Amino acid sequence: MKKVIVTGSSRGIGRAIAICLAKAGYDPVLHCVRRPEAAKAVAEEVKSLGGTGEILKFDISDREEAKAALDSWVEANGAPYGVVLNAGIADDNAFPALEDDQWDRVIRTDLDGFYNVLKPLVMPMVQARNRGRIIALSSISGVVGNRGQVNYSAAKAGVIGAAKALAIELARRGITVNCVAPGVIETEMIDGVFADEVLKAIPMRRFGKPEEVAAVVRFLMSEEAAYVTRQVIQVNGGMF
Ligand code: NDP
Repeated sequence: MKKVIVTGSSRGIGRAIAICLAKAGYDPVLHCVRRPEAAKAVAEEVKSLGGTGEILKFDISDREEAKAALDSWVEANGAPYGVVLNAGIADDNAFPALEDDQWDRVIRTDLDGFYNVLKPLVMPMVQARNRGRIIALSSISGVVGNRGQVNYSAAKAGVIGAAKALAIELARRGITVNCVAPGVIETEMIDGVFADEVLKAIPMRRFGKPEEVAAVVRFLMSEEAAYVTRQVIQVNGGMF
């Protein structure tokens, strides 16, 4: 079974991606930082679908911690076939009120997390000569910017630039690198969003479901998507 590390798969979109990949015959390696109990519940579902239900636990914003966890995982398992960089946070505020800590935490998690997770994994993937897939969760905020999300928009736009550059470097190895950019998806991340106001901006007049993002990730992970690289696929009900 092809192993795919899915960061932030204890809940929300990451959980849906892990389950969707398990149903498609992959072995998703789960990951969380603060909620191991939630990750264990996902692991049980993955096991019932034939996967091993392994869980990694580390903070993606902590470079040393991420490297230690991923180096030892690679030592035990070899390179993963795929990586889904899904873990992320938002911490919104109008720019004049934005605190230094809100800027730093979001950049360190959402943008540095790209580097911290991929740096230990890319060389082993190249050396494995097994092709492979890297999929990073960006956001519509990273594509067009969003009010109250200067920090998050910067980080998610950064992820798109990083993914496009890495796609060029890895293309000849048969490793594809793409982004999925969701609009507004029903998870804990959007708790507190003013529904009526936001819905007006969505032509479909509804929020997306985590499973609707997961299905796009599953396609990008597949053999059929071998010639799709350096792209940003949006899943947003027609917002942009
Ligand atoms: P949730 O808040 O529901 O879940 C976040 C996940 O990321 C959890 O598994 C959490 O682990 C993990 N996580 C958060 N911080 C860290 C960290 N420092 N180190 C390791 N893991 C961490 O988020 P969503 O499912 O809504 O979002 C998933 C991705 O999709 C994110 O990258 C987000 O930016 C992006 N996205 C979401 C949209 C939405 O509308 N929901 C829209 C556009 C993009 P734990 O449970 O242990 O805390």
